[in-house]
Amino acid sequence: MESETPETEAELTGASPRRRPRQQPLEISGRRLSPATLMMGHGYDPMLSEGSLKPPIFLTSTFVFESAAAGKRHFEGVTGKRPGGAEGLIYSRFNGPNQEILEDRLGIWEDAEDALSFSSGMAAIATVMLALVRPGDTIVHSAPLYAATETLIGKILGRFGINWLDFPAGATRAQIDEVLERARKAGRVAMVYLESPANPTNALVDIEAVTAARDALFAEETEKPPIVIDNTFLGPLWQQPLKHGADMVLYSLTKYAGGHSDLVAGGAVGSKAVIDPVRAMRNTIGTITDPHSAWMLLRSLETLELRMTRAGENAAKVCAFLRDHPKVERIGYLGFLEEGSRQADIYRRHCTGAGSTFSLYLKGGEAEAFDFLDRLRIAKLAVSLGGTETLASHPAGMTHLSVPDERKKALDIGDNLVRISIGVENADDLIADFDQALR
Ligand SMILES: *Cc1c(COP(=O)(O)O)cnc(C)c1O
Repeated sequence: MESETPETEAELTGASPRRRPRQQPLEISGRRLSPATLMMGHGYDPMLSEGSLKPPIFLTSTFVFESAAAGKRHFEGVTGKRPGGAEGLIYSRFNGPNQEILEDRLGIWEDAEDALSFSSGMAAIATVMLALVRPGDTIVHSAPLYAATETLIGKILGRFGINWLDFPAGATRAQIDEVLERARKAGRVAMVYLESPANPTNALVDIEAVTAARDALFAEETEKPPIVIDNTFLGPLWQQPLKHGADMVLYSLTKYAGGHSDLVAGGAVGSKAVIDPVRAMRNTIGTITDPHSAWMLLRSLETLELRMTRAGENAAKVCAFLRDHPKVERIGYLGFLEEGSRQADIYRRHCTGAGSTFSLYLKGGEAEAFDFLDRLRIAKLAVSLGGTETLASHPAGMTHLSVPDERKKALDIGDNLVRISIGVENADDLIADFDQALR
């Protein structure tokens, strides 16, 4: 069926083509549509699904090929024998309609060329690392990192001969240069891995300085280590690291993106060139999100801007109340950075909002912190963040219980520290709740 000069896609693929969804426009009369608008339709054509306004959940493990030749072409795409990737769906470990729509919409927020979804934030992080590291490599990272990420790099990848070197989240260009140089002398640098703001200190990383340091040090080399960043706390609304030089942005979609504390998922966005090897690794090990969670995320992304905006406004009001409270020692909130400080400078260059997750240091110790937590009536006592409901937890006794005392001290994780993630409730109700719990 193939001719010398194929005229149609049918001739190109040797089969009747996969029906392409009719795309919602990305702009109208030269006006570029905003992500909030595109979340209601981008990547989905109702006419391919009986006119169903919302995408159905595609519960299937495999997809029927239109012909043997089409099946071969799909496999050539997915295995990389032919550039351009898969043209159609093959098997649900590789992709499915719900996940594809989700990935199209995830990329929109940061104007990314490509995106992937994963079964958890840690699945995203682990798949990226497996795709990029080789024995003997060094991972350079900012510190501190999400505890499971530190375990993955230090304890698990360490068993396979991967080394790491870190710099503190707030490091200056000179400090970053020094660590990167040491790493390069030690051999191949697999990646520069960042988390900003860092959990639980909220310290911001200077992504622009990291990019400048990487570009200067590796200017002569054919292969530059990619800069990968966990943007779970501020993204995609309040910080967009691709604009500041990062190559790939990772998410725990469990948090703000999912936003209702009812699912676990992860995401990665970036250029096609950096995403492609990660997709190949995900295809191999099967860390893709499931169709049901992908569908729930489509629902969540429709209200992402509304939810994050409201949570951010609520947090500003709650923090303004807590700041001057006599029982409060201080607050680690990005909205209160000291004028003229390096952190304030990074914030001004990188962030468009202070988020809704912050650290509250109470006067006293564990007893006072526990008393406060146990008295809360609206805020729920649970770890995690970014949901519609306000959550409060005690890092020293919960998420960071196993961190050695010395390191806890260095990270400012005291017994009087309470972590709070503000939701979308009425701000005055939240203030009333915190007020009675502190009394
Ligand atoms: C929660 C979280 C993760 C891990 O995500 P999961 O979806 O729980 O696997 C990674 N990084 C940060 C910053 C997180 O808050």
